[in-house]
Amino acid sequence: YSGKKPVQSVTDSMIGMKVRDFQSIPVVVAENVSVYDAICHMFLEDVGTLFVVNNSSLLTGVLSRKDLLRTSIGNTELDKIPVHVIMTRMPNITYCEKQDTLLQAAKKMIEKQIDSLPVVVGNEEGFEVVGRITKTNITAAFLSLSDDHEL
Ligand code: ADP
Repeated sequence: YSGKKPVQSVTDSMIGMKVRDFQSIPVVVAENVSVYDAICHMFLEDVGTLFVVNNSSLLTGVLSRKDLLRTSIGNTELDKIPVHVIMTRMPNITYCEKQDTLLQAAKKMIEKQIDSLPVVVGNEEGFEVVGRITKTNITAAFLSLSDDHEL
């Protein structure tokens, strides 16, 4: 006996997958950080997306690899450009919450053609970033189905 669940219960397991069970730690930078420093941060933290927060630690923007590459082409003064000038900003940020299903999060990423979502907790002031969901998390969740089930 393998101890694995029967293949028939895969759909129940999929529907039951929550953002909170698969999310990663978010990597955030301040709005006034330079594009140069953001690039260094992205490499050092080994992530593809940085979330930008204000002085109150509330989400104000998103920086992807291509945002940083686009700015870097033909620009020699990357240390003088603050990231808030080039980031995708609120209210145009697609996010999720930890009680959301992973299927809902996956659907948002595919529909918006983006690689990651901030996991947020909202209050009167705005959104605090508590996690991150990427396509890698979705792939890991997909793989966990074959670990947990008799496939
Ligand atoms: P890359 O640019 O590295 O391919 P993405 O596909 O994730 O990465 O990003 C594409 C564009 O969408 C970028 O301009 C980025 O700022 C923006 N973006 C990324 N994630 C989000 C998000 N969660 N909400 C809104 N915009 C986003």
